[in-house]
Amino acid sequence: MNHTESTDVIVIGGGPAGSATALYLSMKGHRVLLLEQAHFPRDKVCGEFISPAADDLLDELGLLESIEALSPQRLLGVSIAAYGEDELNIDYPDLSGQKMASLSLPRITLDALMLDAVEQKGVKVLQGHKVTDLILQNDQVVGVEGRDDRKNPFSFKAKVVVDAGGRNCISLRRLGLRQENVAQGKIALAAHWSGAEFSQPYCFMHISRPGYTGMAPVGPGQMNVVLVVDQHLIHGKNADEFYRQSVLKNPLRRKMLANATMTEKVRLVESLAYSVKPPSCGGLLLVGDATGFMDPFTGEGIFLSLKSAQLAAGVIDRAFAEDNFSFAGLSQYENLRQKEFSKKFVLSKILQGMIYRPILARWMIRVLRENITLAQKLVGVIGDYVPAAKVVSLTYLVQFLSAACRRLLGK
Ligand SMILES: Cc1cc2nc3c(=O)[nH]c(=O)nc-3n(C[C@H](O)[C@H](O)[C@H](O)COP(=O)(O)OP(=O)(O)OC[C@H]3O[C@@H](n4cnc5c(N)ncnc54)[C@H](O)[C@@H]3O)c2cc1C
Repeated sequence: MNHTESTDVIVIGGGPAGSATALYLSMKGHRVLLLEQAHFPRDKVCGEFISPAADDLLDELGLLESIEALSPQRLLGVSIAAYGEDELNIDYPDLSGQKMASLSLPRITLDALMLDAVEQKGVKVLQGHKVTDLILQNDQVVGVEGRDDRKNPFSFKAKVVVDAGGRNCISLRRLGLRQENVAQGKIALAAHWSGAEFSQPYCFMHISRPGYTGMAPVGPGQMNVVLVVDQHLIHGKNADEFYRQSVLKNPLRRKMLANATMTEKVRLVESLAYSVKPPSCGGLLLVGDATGFMDPFTGEGIFLSLKSAQLAAGVIDRAFAEDNFSFAGLSQYENLRQKEFSKKFVLSKILQGMIYRPILARWMIRVLRENITLAQKLVGVIGDYVPAAKVVSLTYLVQFLSAACRRLLGK
């Protein structure tokens, strides 16, 4: 393909959302061009544990076998502790008699494996190609332009452009879609540690001042430790020192990391949470983090990326069948996305409201400790395979409050 040709679909970005979209579309027989600004393998700040529900999607994409061949860590569930409260290990509940576990592997490995699979599928992948603008005609996106590593300009045309460029993607800037969530004001600091000690593999969520950590074992003795704090706390401070001190301030983390060393400099993601207005033009869909990001506490970003790719590919396939790439032709995508994710977003918001309030956070853990069925249901929802409606419901609220009352009355 030379720089003036056109194709069926252009995908911007080769992260999980972009690679999955390209794979789904090529499986449906569409010609796809994927443009990625970086050269893989490239790293990405992430908690690096993947909801158990993603297994089915990775399998559908033909990726699970190659991932399993790398012998990745499998985590049994979530181990949560808050403000001095003992850890509570909550295993993922079985699904139809099947044991569930989350995958945990470094993003540098996962993303490269996915993009390799895209190329092997025959999709044209151009790395070192940064998209700098969308081409719009009559309120419809009809292509992209940009520059490659050697500063050579390029432009490509397509019936549909899928922006999978993540939190800094071009569409959010070009179309003014990003809505900063200033109230959240959080920053994430992440680094891998080697020599961590723990008895069983869980995703360890430790909430204490000045913020919370998500710790995922990603290999033998290897631990990925992500700290999330208020952004203003780090102003004027050395990020590495602040991170190390904050991580080791917590006794549970200190115990696990007593003999461990950080194997890299700390990496940051600022302005963690943001919401996004859906585009109001035709010819364009957003997938993955380009659709918004709440907070990594419930760790569903990779699953959401894969699922939004699956939904987008279905809608694009129908648009080709009907030869309608207008806003109306693609509008079903937003409805499907809302239907799929809105309840989970409500749950994430509720949990975020609780974890930053010590009294509420401790109370929640104490109630869950004595009601393992309620705890497992919650973790199944966090793992994206139990419908969020099972927890975001009056029934669950009543069960939770009755459990809390029984606890109070000592019954
Ligand atoms: C601190 C933190 C912890 C997290 N922890 C977890 C977790 O434990 N589990 C989980 O499931 N999720 C987690 N997430 C979320 C997860 O990382 C994201 O949801 C996921 O990476 C989104 O994938 P994506 O493909 O949309 O974007 P990305 O992975 O960001 O990929 C976007 C790609 O697009 C490319 N790109 C961008 N702009 C352009 C352009 N203009 N031209 C060409 N290429 C471009 C980039 O180079 C990049 O390769 C976490 C996120 C953060 C910030």
